[in-house]
Amino acid sequence: MSAIDQLREAVCAANRALVMHALVTLTWGNVSGISRDRKLVAIKPSGVAYEQLQPRDITVVGLDGIPVSGSLRPSTDTATHLVLYRAFPGIGGITHTHSTYACMFAQARRAIPCLGTTHADQFNGEVPVTRQLTAAEVAAGYEAATGDVIAERLKGMDLAGVPGVLVAGHGPFSWGADPMKSVENAAALEAIAHMAYGTLALNQTSPLEAHILRKHHDRKHGPGAYYGQGS
Ligand SMILES: [Zn+2]
Repeated sequence: MSAIDQLREAVCAANRALVMHALVTLTWGNVSGISRDRKLVAIKPSGVAYEQLQPRDITVVGLDGIPVSGSLRPSTDTATHLVLYRAFPGIGGITHTHSTYACMFAQARRAIPCLGTTHADQFNGEVPVTRQLTAAEVAAGYEAATGDVIAERLKGMDLAGVPGVLVAGHGPFSWGADPMKSVENAAALEAIAHMAYGTLALNQTSPLEAHILRKHHDRKHGPGAYYGQGS
């Protein structure tokens, strides 16, 4: 099997995993993956039901957005994914959903504070929220501008500790080393948002103590990480 066919299979499986993780309503979500050496991005086709999705349906585009294979139209969010792949050379997969609790924080234009260790295991601090797009930015190219405000918000941050972001008024984008990792980070982000919503409703608003946040993040992701079975 060619490397591009393998990428298509991985992207198809990751899109179907959105359903398993209960992250999507209708077709409100998409996953992509990139072949860095071939400079090609594979992404869900627009409007196709996840249950019917097959690897041959996955569209492949260049980093300029020009389709190179696949007969279906790529996701309408393709330009956002392409901006992120160009801005962040270390990421291999991107997920965008409209999962309920992450969207609630995005719609409230609120970052998700780190309130507990479940959050600290995934994010090295708050889940950031972007600024809103201007009318001129939307008119000039809405989907690419969405990628631009994400890149602007994350400038100078270590993406290893920030596997996702909320776009103001819209919803979450997450990423990872490959397409399935980006879906797992989308699921983690939704769980974090759900817990934060309930915690804030219980009037607990002060963040997790910094030394506990650091301990939890580092034992999983730091230089001396000891969570899991290693590799
Ligand atoms: Zn969206």
